[in-house]
Amino acid sequence: MNNHPSKERTLVIIKPDGVQRSLIGEIIKRYEKMGLKMIAIKMVVPDASFVRKHYTVDPEWQKKAGEKAIASYQKKGIEPPLKNPIEAGNRVLETLIKYMTSGPVVALVWQGAHAVEVVRKVTGGTEPRTSDVGTIRGDFVLDSYIVSDTDGRAVRNLIHASGSTEEANKEIKLWFKENELVNYRLIAEQILYDVNLDGILE
Ligand code: GDP
Ligand code: MG
Repeated sequence: MNNHPSKERTLVIIKPDGVQRSLIGEIIKRYEKMGLKMIAIKMVVPDASFVRKHYTVDPEWQKKAGEKAIASYQKKGIEPPLKNPIEAGNRVLETLIKYMTSGPVVALVWQGAHAVEVVRKVTGGTEPRTSDVGTIRGDFVLDSYIVSDTDGRAVRNLIHASGSTEEANKEIKLWFKENELVNYRLIAEQILYDVNLDGILE
């Protein structure tokens, strides 16, 4: 049952600001309480070429990130600083390299039903200014495209979370060796996924 839908995996990185703000425990708690199972964890200081690799596992990422930022400016009725999505995305990548190499980060792999989607939901939207209340980004940080772009730095939003299952599979391979992913059973999984919920009553 290794490809059962309850075994979907996703990568989360607690970015340097999350570590510095002492939010490691708080962030882990949110995913853990949702019922996801942590199957890998490590603290590292990534170097520039590694961060570049991480953000370009999806060759379309630059364009998508650029389009998202441009759309957010336009939605607010403001002229975006760069109008070409690829150019905007490239600029974001350079600022991200500085951000992500500035200190230790914590990389985690979570497993469970719809892991990619539910982690993104609880993490909240990219721009903390507009991330929903109740999400991690919405509750614990307040950065915006305007403030970060004005200063030529990446949006500080505490967390990276894979955007799709394809992205997750590639990113997990990049961050973890196969033998660093731990296969084990959590008792709570019986309550979350077992067909009959038998074994509760004595
Ligand atoms: P995510 O999947 O929600 O993390 O968002 P993306 O994959 O689109 O972007 C990766 C990261 O780059 C974000 O989490 C932000 O830290 C940063 N970022 C993305 N777009 C912009 C932007 O337009 N301006 C700035 N300053 N940072 C950005
Ligand atoms: Mg992304």
